[in-house]
Amino acid sequence: MKVLIAGAGIGGLATALALHAAGITDVTIRESVNELRPLGVGINLLPHAVRELTELGLGDELARLGVPTSRLSYFNRFGQEIWTEPRGRAAGYLWPQYSIHRGELQMLLRDTVEQRLPGSIVLGSSVRSSTPWAAGGEVVAVRADDGTESVLHADVVVGADGIHSTLRAGRYPLEGDPVWNGLMLWRGTAWVEPYLDGRTMIMAGDGQQKFVAYPLSNPGSSADRGGLVRVNFIAERRVDNAGPGENSWTKTADPFDVARFFDGWKFEWLDVPNVISSANELLQYPMVDRDPVERWTFGTQTLLGDAAHPMYPIGSNGASQAIIDARTLAYELATAASVPVALSRYEGIRLPLTTAVTLSNRELGPERVMQIAFERAPKGFAHIHDVMSQQELESIAAQYKQSAGFAPELLNERASLSVE
Ligand SMILES: Cc1cc2nc3c(=O)[nH]c(=O)nc-3n(C[C@H](O)[C@H](O)[C@H](O)COP(=O)(O)OP(=O)(O)OC[C@H]3O[C@@H](n4cnc5c(N)ncnc54)[C@H](O)[C@@H]3O)c2cc1C
Repeated sequence: MKVLIAGAGIGGLATALALHAAGITDVTIRESVNELRPLGVGINLLPHAVRELTELGLGDELARLGVPTSRLSYFNRFGQEIWTEPRGRAAGYLWPQYSIHRGELQMLLRDTVEQRLPGSIVLGSSVRSSTPWAAGGEVVAVRADDGTESVLHADVVVGADGIHSTLRAGRYPLEGDPVWNGLMLWRGTAWVEPYLDGRTMIMAGDGQQKFVAYPLSNPGSSADRGGLVRVNFIAERRVDNAGPGENSWTKTADPFDVARFFDGWKFEWLDVPNVISSANELLQYPMVDRDPVERWTFGTQTLLGDAAHPMYPIGSNGASQAIIDARTLAYELATAASVPVALSRYEGIRLPLTTAVTLSNRELGPERVMQIAFERAPKGFAHIHDVMSQQELESIAAQYKQSAGFAPELLNERASLSVE
């Protein structure tokens, strides 16, 4: 079986590795950029994605590159604690949760693909549908250097070409730009003093303004700089009137301008404006997603990752869901009676689940506790239980894990997606 993947992001590379592990080795990835560089900042890999990458043989490398997240804590904008829960193994999962640099993860996946499927990644080659309604297995590849076009054929074409997917646009030509919710995100990394236990992911604020941070290096590790740790952060603010601006992964902003929005956010355990202004570079990105579609598969062509289900970066699910898509697709292609049956099973499993996560993220997902606490106590509280009961807090956290497929018992007991 010949498989062509458009896009060598986390989703496309994970798909190539999953196919190889399932015994499908005639795989090509076409990637539009001329060079894959470790772009982006941090992401979190949830235990359900770590399980898949571990079963693909990458467990040791992930442990080397990532920081095992110990806890997730939500605070209000005054630094008062709303909710804390253990994460990864501490929460009973058989696999850890990792905070990891997106670019380093992508390079790990790329190097492993090169090793297992040598020559399968073709750079500087953009893929598009040959005509909007052409049979799925035919696409056009356009060379980045001279614009030369060639028609390619494969038994399966996988559109893993991200939120601006050309293959998706070929099927949904009227869809237009991603949908913006009025929030602007500024992402960066900074070397700062370790906070709390050195492995906690924190979120502070509410639906108007928020700060998220998690360490990307372990205190005391060879990578630390004189006791400092590299912390990944996202500063977020509602800026409706300004418009979403450019929707690119490389647009930058001045850290000092953004730090000013967080002037009063100096908690006993973290000085937020100091973290922001210590960043070398700040990437600016509007919080966007797309309306879920009812269909990813057209003939022998399907969608995966952000091309299929772009979602807000809430609940740390973007990269994780792309990795699970990859493993599910490979499993179905290797075990179903035919390609159409495999693609239909893949879509039947993954589309409803990722639609639920996308829609839940629009309602703030598990971060809803921060907005509820803000609405009930905008000036802060003496104790969180004065404004939210333990039961309400627990139920919001549990609901999201259930719908995103990473409740500990669900994940630990689920059969493996490895093909015997
Ligand atoms: C440069 C970059 C930086 C990012 N930084 C962050 C970050 O800091 N934090 C975060 O949470 N998320 C980030 N993301 C998004 C995150 O990687 C995804 O949400 C998630 O990993 C799902 O990955 P994906 O493979 O579906 O999409 P992506 O990671 O977006 O990968 C899509 C790939 O397809 C390629 N491509 C696009 N169009 C075509 C085409 N027509 N033909 C062939 N190839 C094509 C792109 O160049 C890209 O390599 C970033 C994405 C990119 C591309």
